[in-house]
Amino acid sequence: MKSFTRVLPHAVRRTTRLSGAVPRLGRTQKPAFAAQCAARHLSTTPHLQEVDLTDIPPTPITHLSEVEAAMADTVQKFANEVILPKVREMDEAEAMDPSVVEQLFEQGLMGVEIPEEYGGAGMNFTAAIVGIEELARVDPSVSVMVDVHNTLVNTAVLKWASPANKKKYLPRLATNTVGSFCLSEPVSGSDAFALATKATETENGFKLNGSKMWITNSMEADFFIVFANLDPSKGYKGITAFIVEKGTKGFSIAKKEKKLGIKASSTCVINLDDVEIPKENLLGERGQGYKYAISVLNEGRIGIAAQMTGLALGAWENAVKYVWNDRKQFGRLVGEFQGMQHQIAQSYTEISAARALVYNAARKKEAGQDFIVDAAMAKLYASQVAGRVSGLAIEWMGGMGFVREGLAEKYWRDSKIGAIYEGTSNIQLNTIAKLLQKEYTA
Ligand SMILES: Cc1cc2nc3c(=O)[nH]c(=O)nc-3n(C[C@H](O)[C@H](O)[C@H](O)COP(=O)(O)OP(=O)(O)OC[C@H]3O[C@@H](n4cnc5c(N)ncnc54)[C@H](O)[C@@H]3O)c2cc1C
Repeated sequence: MKSFTRVLPHAVRRTTRLSGAVPRLGRTQKPAFAAQCAARHLSTTPHLQEVDLTDIPPTPITHLSEVEAAMADTVQKFANEVILPKVREMDEAEAMDPSVVEQLFEQGLMGVEIPEEYGGAGMNFTAAIVGIEELARVDPSVSVMVDVHNTLVNTAVLKWASPANKKKYLPRLATNTVGSFCLSEPVSGSDAFALATKATETENGFKLNGSKMWITNSMEADFFIVFANLDPSKGYKGITAFIVEKGTKGFSIAKKEKKLGIKASSTCVINLDDVEIPKENLLGERGQGYKYAISVLNEGRIGIAAQMTGLALGAWENAVKYVWNDRKQFGRLVGEFQGMQHQIAQSYTEISAARALVYNAARKKEAGQDFIVDAAMAKLYASQVAGRVSGLAIEWMGGMGFVREGLAEKYWRDSKIGAIYEGTSNIQLNTIAKLLQKEYTA
């Protein structure tokens, strides 16, 4: 197994780049920016007040701090050398190679924002976003594993777990324990808070009963954040978050879904049958679960948008390498025909626009500004671009794009999920319209 310089958690102190990294495609970095980032409070979760940005000189949105650039370079190299050789095999097997999961922990990619005192990398949100994007450029399945674990699970524990639970779980989540986020159910998808799973208080804690659906990472996970209604008389205000560990009596994986895309990412139905958990497994406060879910999903959407941007770039690069280097027809490289060049240029422009939306949403979140519309626009647009570009990329490659020898067809299959999870495209449009109407209504 190849070993890499671990980018995290010591990257903050290290600025050296691994040699041989591939181009950063439009992202730039200058040393002075790191200092500006420090001024922008790039650490993640604790502060929620808006940061005063008045004295900070504006920089291109694609500029990365040194830490973020180190993350991009190292993950790029790791993804190309370790993950790429296994992508097709994992897709065909519809399973994540356990050695990949192990390496993700070794690389520090499962604890990007977890503070160093808990064994994490102590990095900022944008570093996580850049890592998710780079992974998706090679394999969107690995990318979503890292995304859900970091942006939903770790964030929820960091924000709302008790000090004792932080001490107990964060070191595990940073080093060896995959997490899952269990909100959706057979009866509740877009209408997430219509969930039917019930929690009842017992002498020693809580008892959970119900069924969760579509749960990412559930085959690999040992740690589950489960949303259940503790007081249905209060409607969605009864929804409460709980921590459930795999192996708890009554907790079972009922079915693993066979999917169109991101096949290596596990998606399962989970049954909760009189699952008894101790009272300390309450995550945060009773009745606050819906607020917690909305909060992490708003941030998580930026992660999915980054996954889709990375996917689009990966599909674009995979195709242009072929049409600009290998395939000739009528005595010319096929990528030299103007009809092809215009599509290639249009696609790259759209990818760059999606990336700008993603980075802007991430920076606004870090600055403590309102980013909900930005996150929704980023996810909506990036998933549209991913679908469009990966579809065109197949056409640019002709028959070679259609066969399972290469990755073109896989990128396209994988792109479809961007418009579905963490809020469908219609739900993003609803959010954008609702907030805009509020702003523009007298
Ligand atoms: C691969 C995969 C992984 C997932 N991972 C997780 C996970 O880890 N944890 C988790 O909790 N969930 C997860 N989900 C669930 C995911 O978030 C839901 O699938 C998603 O929210 C959509 O819900 P639904 O599938 O029930 O679709 P539905 O809600 O049934 O929607 C069907 C259609 O109706 C439209 N629609 C619904 N309501 C409205 C409306 N108000 N206005 C306009 N159109 C509307 C939708 O846009 C969609 O086109 C995952 C799903 C998949 C497929």
